Amino acid sequence: MVMKVVIDRDLCQGHSVCLGECPEVFDVVEEDEGYPMVKVLIENPPEELRDKVMKAANYCPNSVITIVEE
Ligand code: SF4
Repeated sequence: MVMKVVIDRDLCQGHSVCLGECPEVFDVVEEDEGYPMVKVLIENPPEELRDKVMKAANYCPNSVITIVEE
């Protein structure tokens, strides 16, 4: 099983909790509209990052991040 990171950009408010928990996989960048928005750097993160990815998903205040097992 390989993790796949799925995000719902409509829900993201740029809190950067995800970036704080797992900077290897998540970045937060300014969009054209001038709002910060999550950006996924590794769509299929390696297994050793699982704990950090799960924390980012669990602690995101807007439930933007979903982990799918493929
Ligand atoms: S994904 Fe969640 S924690 Fe990350 S920037 Fe968006 S709202 Fe904030």
